[in-house]
Order: sequence, then structure tokens, then C-alpha cells
Amino acid sequence: MPYAYDPLNIFARILRGEIPNKTVLETAHTLAFHDIGPHAPVHVLVIPKGAYVNFDHFAGEASSEELVDFHRSCAQIIAQLGISPGQGGAGYRTISNAGEDGHQEVPHYHMHILAGRPLGLMLSKA
Ligand code: AMP
Repeated sequence: MPYAYDPLNIFARILRGEIPNKTVLETAHTLAFHDIGPHAPVHVLVIPKGAYVNFDHFAGEASSEELVDFHRSCAQIIAQLGISPGQGGAGYRTISNAGEDGHQEVPHYHMHILAGRPLGLMLSKA
């Protein structure tokens, strides 16, 4: 079944410039901005500019150029923020929610980058 992308979702509107955002980084294929409701002192969202619904859609159908651009952008942001444990930072967590069980609110693929405090266990076991 083809992925159904909703062009009215809030990140599509941000990409069209209809809603403001606090940009962290922008490239030809990728935009990163601060989350409006941060769960940690650092909470950045990284999104591809293409119309992808979630991680498996992006990973399965994006071009090599888009895939590389997205991941290099994530690395650049992590370096910029000084949170890489490989470079003296205290660490971070990346999360990508998908669908109902994943509790995805915005149906445009995004990677959360969270840092700035101990982030606790990955998940509760409930
Ligand atoms: P998810 O539950 O993984 O879909 O996460 C969606 C995230 O988007 C949440 O953390 C929201 O706080 C964030 N969010 C929603 N609207 C905006 C917006 N206009 N600007 C920045 N972040 C937003």
C-alpha cells in the first residue's frame, strides 16, 4: 500500500513558510528547528524537505542524496550543540516515532535530538 502523505500537516506548513520556526540548520534537503514543547534543555527536530510520512517511508524511498544530507545534517547539529560523547559532550538521544503505537503526532518524518540532562531509561516496561 502506498504511503499517504497529508500536505496540511504542521511540518509541511513550516516547510512552505506558513508557520514560523526557530531554525537550527537548513540544507538543500533538510531542515532542523527547535521543538515548540521541549522535553529536555536541548530538543531539536530534524526533518527532510521531501514528503515522507515516517522513518520507514524515508529510509525506503528517499534518494541517496536526501538520505546522506539528512544524516550528515544530524551529525552537524550534534557537533554544533557540543553533545557528542565522542567529542567531549555528555551525550544525547535520537527518537523517531511512527504511527499509532509509536505515538507519532505529526505525520511528516522527523528525528528528535534530545540532550542537556540525564534522559533516563529508554522506555518504561509497562
Ligand atoms: P511526534 O510525537 O514524534 O510526532 O512529535 C511531534 C513534535 O512536534 C512534538 O514534540 C511537538 O512539540 C512538536 N511540534 C509540534 N508543532 C510544532 C511547531 N509548530 N514547531 C516546532 N515543534 C512543533
